[in-house]
Amino acid sequence: MVDLKSLDLPELIEFIGSIGEKPFRAKQIYEWMHKKKVVSFDEMTNISKSFREKLKEVSVLNVAKIDIKQVSKLDGTAKYLMRLNDGNAVETVLMRYKHGNSVCVSSQVGCRMGCRFCASTVGGLVRSLAPSEMLEQVYNIERDTGERVSNIIIMGIGEPFDNYENVMRFVRMISDENGLNISERNITVSTCGIVENIRRLSKEGLHITLAISLHAPNDEIRREMMPVANKYTIAEILEACEDFVKETKRRVTFEYTLVEGVNDSPENAAELSLLMKNHLFHVNLIPLNQVEGRFGKRSRQKNIQNFKNMLENNHINVTIRRELGSDIDAACGQLRKSSS
Ligand code: SAH
Repeated sequence: MVDLKSLDLPELIEFIGSIGEKPFRAKQIYEWMHKKKVVSFDEMTNISKSFREKLKEVSVLNVAKIDIKQVSKLDGTAKYLMRLNDGNAVETVLMRYKHGNSVCVSSQVGCRMGCRFCASTVGGLVRSLAPSEMLEQVYNIERDTGERVSNIIIMGIGEPFDNYENVMRFVRMISDENGLNISERNITVSTCGIVENIRRLSKEGLHITLAISLHAPNDEIRREMMPVANKYTIAEILEACEDFVKETKRRVTFEYTLVEGVNDSPENAAELSLLMKNHLFHVNLIPLNQVEGRFGKRSRQKNIQNFKNMLENNHINVTIRRELGSDIDAACGQLRKSSS
C-alpha cells in the first residue's frame, strides 16, 4: 500500500498517472489531503466514486488520532498524544504566541541518542516517522483548534537528523504553496549535532532555522550529558555551523540546558562565550525540566540569571527560554511514557 500523504506533488502526479488518471486529478487530491486536510477519501467530492474506490485499494490515507489532550490553564499551551496507525504514539505541543500558533513536532517514536537528562530516549528508538505522520501532527492540531498554524519547531520526540530524508520531505511539503504554505523562515529544526547532516542541510537551499543542542562549553562536560558527544566534537559541530551560516546567511541557535553544578558556573559561561564569539550565533538557555529518575537538577534562578548576564557582558546574543504549560508538567516525552 502506498502512503499517499507522504508523496510530494510530482510523485503523486506520477502515481496517479500510473493507475490511469490525469495529472490534474493529482493536484486536486493533493489539495484535499494537504490544504483541506480531509480524513477520508470519500470527502474528495470532485473525484469520481470509482476512482476513490481504486485509491482505497492501492493506497492508504494516513490519519493520526488525538488520544489525550492537556491544556494549560496558565497560557493555553496544549500537549497532545497522537496515536499513529500502528498503535504507536508521539507527543505534539501547541504553543500560542501573539505572533501566531507554533507547533512542536516529533520526528521519531522514541530516540536512540541517549541524552541523559531527556525523557524521550528512555526505551530507545522504536521507529522513525513517515512524512505523513509528521504532517498529521500539524493537520490534527489545525482541525482540533480551527486555527492556522504559522510556526513549526521540530523539537519533539526523536532526533530529526536520524530521520533526515523524511524530515526534509516534511519541511518541503508543509511549506508547499499547495499545502499549508508555512514559510520556511518559520520552521526550525533542532539536532543534537549530527555533523554530516548539518552539512547536508547547508546544501538543501532551504531557508529554515537550525538549532543545535550544545548544552556544554567543552567536550568533557558534553560527554557527561550526551553520548553523541563521543562521536562528534564541539569543534566539528561549530565548523559545520559556520559553514551553514556562510552558505545560508541564516543565524544558528545553540540550545543550552542549564544543569546545577554540571554546566552552569561562571567559568562555563566564560568558556561558552569564547565559542560563540564573533559568529552569527544565538544562545537559548533552557532551565532543565527535571525528569524523575533522569540525570541532573535544575539550576537555581540566580545562577541562570548570572549565566545570562555573563554572556551578555561578552556581547553574546542570548535569551532564556520562556517556560510554557508548566502546569501540565509532562516534560518532553513524559506523556508518551506515562500512557504506554
Ligand atoms: N533530538 C533533537 C530535538 C529534540 S529535543 C535535539 O537534540 O535537538 C529539543 C531540546 O530539548 C533539545 O535541546 C534537548 O536537548 C532539550 N531537552 C530534552 N530534555 C530536556 C529536559 N529534560 N530539560 C530541558 N531540555 C531538554
